[in-house]
Amino acid sequence: MFSFHVSGEVIISQEPYVCVPNNSSSISRCDGCFASSNLKKCSACQVVWYCGSNCQKLDWKLHRLECQVLSRLDKEKRKSVTPSIRLMLKLYLRRKLQNDNVIPSTTTDNYSLVEALVAHMSDIDEKQLLLYAQIANLVNLILQWPEISINEIAENFSKLACNAHTICNSELRPLGTGLYPVISIINHSCLPNAVLVFEGRLAVVRAVQHVPKGAEVLISYIETAGSTMTRQKALKEQYLFTCTCPRCIKLGQFDDIQESAILEGYRCKDDGCSGFLLRDSDDKGFTCQQCGLVRSKEEIKKIASEVNILSKKTLALTSCGNHQEVVSTYKMIEKLQKKLYHPFSVNLMQTREKLIKGYIHSSILCLGCSIIPVGNLNGFLVTQKMQSNP
Ligand SMILES: [Zn+2]
Ligand SMILES: [Zn+2]
Ligand SMILES: [Zn+2]
Ligand SMILES: [Zn+2]
Repeated sequence: MFSFHVSGEVIISQEPYVCVPNNSSSISRCDGCFASSNLKKCSACQVVWYCGSNCQKLDWKLHRLECQVLSRLDKEKRKSVTPSIRLMLKLYLRRKLQNDNVIPSTTTDNYSLVEALVAHMSDIDEKQLLLYAQIANLVNLILQWPEISINEIAENFSKLACNAHTICNSELRPLGTGLYPVISIINHSCLPNAVLVFEGRLAVVRAVQHVPKGAEVLISYIETAGSTMTRQKALKEQYLFTCTCPRCIKLGQFDDIQESAILEGYRCKDDGCSGFLLRDSDDKGFTCQQCGLVRSKEEIKKIASEVNILSKKTLALTSCGNHQEVVSTYKMIEKLQKKLYHPFSVNLMQTREKLIKGYIHSSILCLGCSIIPVGNLNGFLVTQKMQSNP
């Protein structure tokens, strides 16, 4: 299907069939480029924002129709038009524009690709189906198209839930949601040979290793660092399937148990031992598989609850912008987690990522107000200087 690809090379890229920014009462983004500054509201519908006339012009063919249907609604109803309802409205409006040849169709940009996507209707529970039917009813009321079927809209909501992608910026912050029918065809593996990234709203699939001619291109729909149990749970809940990739079929085998115990398990009591721990059969503690030392459940619980309290504290500190304190709290969490988890633990890795982000944030702020950074940051600067001196 695809020709030979080397690592880093673009395999395929696609503009969204439809997309919307994740706007709420607290944040607004441009409908064209997702920028969040210098925005102006569309004066007619008062729902959609643009960063300037360029984005507004590019979006006009589609928004002209959307603007008409939104403008019919009273002010209160307009507030209830959520991003997911707008995504559905845009889906129907774009289909209509392509049917009427106002927007051209191509082999990679046409509604039949959306029709071919899986909806997993038989796997959805009754409560969720009822919810889809309710929002479908609302979409129907907004559009007022006599030929439209509520069942079809409900099925399309399920389709969006399984197939739409969260569009993130380079820092992996979510900006919006988009439907990329060609990208959605790419299957999942927990051991992928390609990765999906976003450049603005363009979805780009790049090889992460050499992909030989004829090999299937596979991306991961979820965070791949978790244990097999964690990954399978996430895939079942969000994408309604059971993964049978080379990592997942090892579930329960010795090397899978070992991998899980390293990624999400505890460390040995002996600092010098790098063995992994497994739960004892009597559930009183965890035994090191290398040296046999046992850690009690109580001791582990105690450290875990200290970490928990500190994590909650970082949330509060982050929201009030106290970045120096955030950094020192993450340092305390790291210290505790080093005692708790295996050195290669996912939790430890995530804490270190947050710590680095915190350092960057507090150093930018400090340089901004010309206060010389103190404490650990100095350590960073000194190390850098030493490395540059031969
Ligand atoms: Zn824009
Ligand atoms: Zn408008
Ligand atoms: Zn898998
Ligand atoms: Zn040990």
